[in-house]
Amino acid sequence: MKLDIGTLVFVTSLLWLCQTAALIVQYRIGKAYRGMGWWLIAVIVQSVGFWTMLAVMFPPIYVLAMFGNPLMYLGQIFLIVGILKFLDRPVPVRMLSAIYASFVISYYWFLFVDANLSARTAVFNAFIGFLALATAAYLFRRKKPQFASAANFTALVFFIFGLIEFIILLSNSLPSRYSEYSQVKEDPIALLNFIAPIISSVLWTYGLILLVNQRLNGDVQLEKEKLRLIFNIGPQAELITRMSDSLLVDANNELVNLTGYDRNEALGQKIIDLDLWTTPEDRASYMEELGREGQVDQREFAFRRRDGASFVGLTSGRLIVIDDEPHVVTSVLDITVRKEIEQKMQALLAEKNAQYETLSLIQDQLLKVNGELERLSAQDKLTGFFNRHKLTEMLEHEIFRWSRYGNPSTLVMVDIDHFKRINDRFGHLTGDKVLVQLAALLQAKVRKSDFCFRWGGEEFLLLLTETGYEDALLTAEKLRLFVETSSDFPVESLTISLGVVTWSEGWTQEEWIHQADMALYQAKEQGRNRVVGTASHE
Ligand code: GH3
Ligand code: MG
Ligand code: MG
Repeated sequence: MKLDIGTLVFVTSLLWLCQTAALIVQYRIGKAYRGMGWWLIAVIVQSVGFWTMLAVMFPPIYVLAMFGNPLMYLGQIFLIVGILKFLDRPVPVRMLSAIYASFVISYYWFLFVDANLSARTAVFNAFIGFLALATAAYLFRRKKPQFASAANFTALVFFIFGLIEFIILLSNSLPSRYSEYSQVKEDPIALLNFIAPIISSVLWTYGLILLVNQRLNGDVQLEKEKLRLIFNIGPQAELITRMSDSLLVDANNELVNLTGYDRNEALGQKIIDLDLWTTPEDRASYMEELGREGQVDQREFAFRRRDGASFVGLTSGRLIVIDDEPHVVTSVLDITVRKEIEQKMQALLAEKNAQYETLSLIQDQLLKVNGELERLSAQDKLTGFFNRHKLTEMLEHEIFRWSRYGNPSTLVMVDIDHFKRINDRFGHLTGDKVLVQLAALLQAKVRKSDFCFRWGGEEFLLLLTETGYEDALLTAEKLRLFVETSSDFPVESLTISLGVVTWSEGWTQEEWIHQADMALYQAKEQGRNRVVGTASHE
């Protein structure tokens, strides 16, 4: 076999370029996977390494050649890093650095310290062979099911390459040194040494591309399965139809439960022909909104099943483009039962509301009656004055008010003189009339801010608020005179006696009333038809 070194270099350079280009393209397609960037760098570094080695033929840049092998080996290290990352394995950075450092030291030892080409070549074979076998082992053992065959192929390439490197090493038949590169063609082992890395790199580049694509395919398949699962898992029917003619392109298994049409028999038919929409206007409105907005969310439409039964479908839709044609993805959930329950709930709620309104009406009336009852319980029936019950409450309030504001109030106890006689002479009814008239007179003559109570049979208590002793005496006297001189009463003459007492600090209301009673008693004692008062300070 005749091999011209120039042709070889030309072909190899071309191969490196092609590999780099192929990996760049692959990197752009599948850069979602880790490690691919490292492969690209590996190929670039190895290409640079290869060209650097050629410097040996050009004396001015001869020195560059000594970087060739270290660069080639660095590329090989990057390659295994990329593969480990691609396999989601941890990268043993220290170990790889140590291996690389050992290589570089040994290589340069046999270049500068003990210049020996065959030893140098042996070092290169050993290190690169070891790394190739390690790469093969990783790929073979740690591959994932979705790219198993591509991993096996690539592992085999690395394995054979590694093996060849060791065969070369063991054959130890390399000439001790090359006087000129044309010797390469005479030695099959040396030829192998030159060609093995080139062929294997083409093959492993091919393997890597296979790996990525098989993995991509596997992942796409997985995504498809996931989507199909999601498509089928929900309680709603999912349909994909072509927008132009409503042709059913795809549907999930729920379609049969919803419409009664089996998926397989419905696919390829037009939705219009299946007659699912109860009202054509609904469909028109749905399509119009889709066309306008690109999506429809949760609208309720009436649909018809295959057997003619109708149902309410909660409908959502999205526009998508499949093969350059607009399609519609529609999701329909049967909410007939939900709607029925909703309606029942609403009816129940309306009923409860009506009941509630009746109840609140009754409550209003009860409140009114209660108010009336309270008013009645606080009032004396005959005269309309407050009764004793109310008196207790008012006096308590009054005592509190005094302690807060300090203005005095006065109680006036009024008693009709010889009322028994009136009853006896004119009868009980007339007596009642007198009581009513007197009450009206008292009420009219005191201030609006004063309060009148019926204390007993013909006895009244007047609470003159914010009224001191002297003023109260005057008021009492005025009242006495009015009664005495009034001719309105249905009796010949009517007089009253009055006891006046201003509140004194420390008194309870019982004490206060008692003091008024005592004053009244004195008025009676002193001959009736008079006012007797007790000032608080006395
Ligand atoms: P005095 O001057 O001492 O007050 O003599 P009096 O007769 O007015 O006093 P007494 O306490 O002895 O009698 C009160 C009478 O008032 C007794 C009762 O028959 C009468 N009386 C009490 N309540 C009513 C009532 O609601 N209607 C009528 N018509 N009479 C009543
Ligand atoms: Mg009396
Ligand atoms: Mg009396």
